[in-house]
Amino acid sequence: MPTDTVIATHALTKRFGDVLAVDGLDLDVRRGEVYGFLGRNGAGKTTTIRMLLGLIRPSAGEVTMLGRRIGPGETSVFGRVGYLVETATAYPNLTVRENLDIQRRLTGAPKTAVADAIERLGLSQYADRRADHLSLGNKQRLSLARALLHAPDVLVLDEPANALDPAGIVEVRDMLRSLADERGVTVFMSSHILAEVAHLADRIGIVHDGRLLEELDRDELAAKARSYIEVRTSDLDRAEALLRAVGFAHVEREGDTLRVFGAGERCPDIARALVSAGLELTSLTPTSEDLETYFLRLTGG
Ligand code: ATP
Repeated sequence: MPTDTVIATHALTKRFGDVLAVDGLDLDVRRGEVYGFLGRNGAGKTTTIRMLLGLIRPSAGEVTMLGRRIGPGETSVFGRVGYLVETATAYPNLTVRENLDIQRRLTGAPKTAVADAIERLGLSQYADRRADHLSLGNKQRLSLARALLHAPDVLVLDEPANALDPAGIVEVRDMLRSLADERGVTVFMSSHILAEVAHLADRIGIVHDGRLLEELDRDELAAKARSYIEVRTSDLDRAEALLRAVGFAHVEREGDTLRVFGAGERCPDIARALVSAGLELTSLTPTSEDLETYFLRLTGG
């Protein structure tokens, strides 16, 4: 096992009666990386995460976390692990602050940790609201606050973006990125939405029917993604020539649209170039459809 391995599984398997939920999974997650565990509903993500955390026992295979084999009686590593699993629940009749204070006492975190976590998860406005009176998205924020309250070295998060609105997803994404980059926290997170992990993860493992189909790092993913901006306009020939002239080297024709590759977020530049030349611009759409298509093809969608 490489020395910077934080989470490793070997031939990890879980059966529920006839259902093979996780089938011989080998994972190797390194220190300070954000690992996106991507799969459709029922792929085996939650079951894997429960085994990582010692919440259920594997039918076969093993999990090692922070150098310790996870099994009955192994509790020492969990002080360094923060987690969020689907069934994470807060004490319903206690406030956000009270819930976090209980977690603080349980984990021996310093007093300032509660205020820090409230601030980090944008819960200041709701700090004195009962947990059962929170919106779903804010319940999720509370669960995330609890997961990272004690400044763990490892975060294991099952669908952290669940119930968050688009702005919340971006906030949480930025927060996880900075925990990994600035504090070297290792993040293992599951998702069923490719776009969500594509923006964040250093590596993505695609799981289907309990098996790891493929692992991709950021560059491999970007190569597959081939994101582009789709342009609809009154005169495709002129538009293509104009875009090339202003430096968009990779323009392809697809039906009655143009696809401008490698354009990043330069929609405004494209719009300016076409409109100022007197072309009528019908639509401009940033797209990364190919990546989604790739994921669906891989998982039989
Ligand atoms: P989702 O995104 O829908 O949460 P998932 O990838 O987390 O899906 P799991 O919850 O791990 O998937 O489920 C994997 C498979 O194992 C599914 O077929 C599920 O029905 C089955 N399964 C999970 N838990 C149990 C259980 N306790 N008893 C029987 N089958 C189970």
